[in-house]
Amino acid sequence: MFVVADGMGGHVGGEVASELAVTEIQNIVESTAELGPLDTWPVPFDQSLGRDGNRLQAGFDNANRRIAQHMEGAENLRGMATTAVAVLLDGVQAALAHVGDSRAYLYRADQLTRLTSDHSWVEEQMRAGMLTEAAAREHPWRNIVTKALSGSDDLQVDVAELELQPGDRLLLCSDGLSSVLNDSEIGDIMAANHDLQEGCDEFVNQANAAGGPDNITSLLLHVASAAGS
Ligand code: CA
Repeated sequence: MFVVADGMGGHVGGEVASELAVTEIQNIVESTAELGPLDTWPVPFDQSLGRDGNRLQAGFDNANRRIAQHMEGAENLRGMATTAVAVLLDGVQAALAHVGDSRAYLYRADQLTRLTSDHSWVEEQMRAGMLTEAAAREHPWRNIVTKALSGSDDLQVDVAELELQPGDRLLLCSDGLSSVLNDSEIGDIMAANHDLQEGCDEFVNQANAAGGPDNITSLLLHVASAAGS
């Protein structure tokens, strides 16, 4: 399981929320590892998803509840929230979940594909045809996130399942990368850097060279074979 969480709500709150999210998603994924078929689960599950999609969904739900619990009675943490994008791998089977504007990309056969759709104000405006991507990049509201793990009781998580292929690479990243470099620039860095650490270093270098207004988190995975990743 791999996850990127980008905290919001001031320095302290953002750090607490993102750490709670990562810890709780990991806890749930670990504690459900031995569970059998979905019909034996003690918790409600989404019939449209397989086992691993449901494990991530449960992880995000529990992370959201933990954040709500921590905010109760902690004045300095009120309003804290975090994005999260997580991938859970079982061989080449991948479950993917996200909330907020952190992204997952797939790089396959020299093509970069975005696997997630941002939960952000500018993304909603673009989908409605009200903003171009270039205008969204410069928009003063470009950092407004419309969904997050914020402790609210109406959490909606996007969960998907996909089959990977040997040679695929996955990128999980915060908006500190994707709000500065466009998809074609990210694809160029993928093409030029086969070493995963060098690729991540290059993402950070180029995002900083382009102004680097935000923290930059990037995580690269390479699917080596059908037996592992
Ligand atoms: Ca950010």
